[in-house]
Amino acid sequence: MASNFHTHTYRCRHAFGTEEDYVISAINCGLDQLGFSDHGPFPDHDFGLRMDYNELTDYLDTIDRLKIKYRDRIELFKGLEIEYYPEYTDYYRYLIGERKLDYLALGEHTYHSRSGEIKNIFFANSTEDFLEYAENLCMGMETGLFRFAAHPDIMFINDLPIDGNAEKACRMIVECAAKNNIILEYNANGHRRERRMYPDGMRYPYPHPFFWSMAARADIKVIVGSDCHTPDQVSDRYVKSAREAVIQLGLKLTDSIFDNTSKENQ
Ligand SMILES: [Zn+2]
Ligand SMILES: [Zn+2]
Repeated sequence: MASNFHTHTYRCRHAFGTEEDYVISAINCGLDQLGFSDHGPFPDHDFGLRMDYNELTDYLDTIDRLKIKYRDRIELFKGLEIEYYPEYTDYYRYLIGERKLDYLALGEHTYHSRSGEIKNIFFANSTEDFLEYAENLCMGMETGLFRFAAHPDIMFINDLPIDGNAEKACRMIVECAAKNNIILEYNANGHRRERRMYPDGMRYPYPHPFFWSMAARADIKVIVGSDCHTPDQVSDRYVKSAREAVIQLGLKLTDSIFDNTSKENQ
């Protein structure tokens, strides 16, 4: 079965194409399942790079309409990629319960630091930040509210050495995912970014073999996510290279996020 559960739309303001454009592209690529996971808004705070909260209803209604329109050709799922903040736990439950989302993807771009400020993992000052990122990601995974963790090793986008902190952060994430039976996403968008020189050598910013070889030694399911921001990326050559890497690393590749039992029945 061919699928993708990491799909953005024009609504986040840094992607292109309507929901329907992605559905058509997915059908043309032969996908059986497509999950929408645009960047999730919060009701009372704009963390940036996402739809307005008042657009959420139209986003969800649009996917509902497309589910019916294309039901003979593809199975569609209604989701959001969203950060974990403990104070929004009721909101996540509201999205899954009342708003009837099929899933939430845990995409930890920003998080609470130990000192209380909000930090962005794209701009880590030191590998100490990797530990804070990992702590927050793990707290999110522990809730059982998220179907998978998107780009869990995104911290390696930073120009920082792989040291004891980096290793500890990776181990925390891998052990937490294994314990909570959470799927980890091998993110093809990292392959779309330039390979360049980092302190540990020439590589993609993410996914990083350092993290994934550790994941391969644990009993973890891995899904490849396109993280497409244009319709032609739904199942492009980067998705294929990501799949090849997952197989080469000896990871346990899964094609759907819905054959996994999480703590809460979603
Ligand atoms: Zn995005
Ligand atoms: Zn993301």
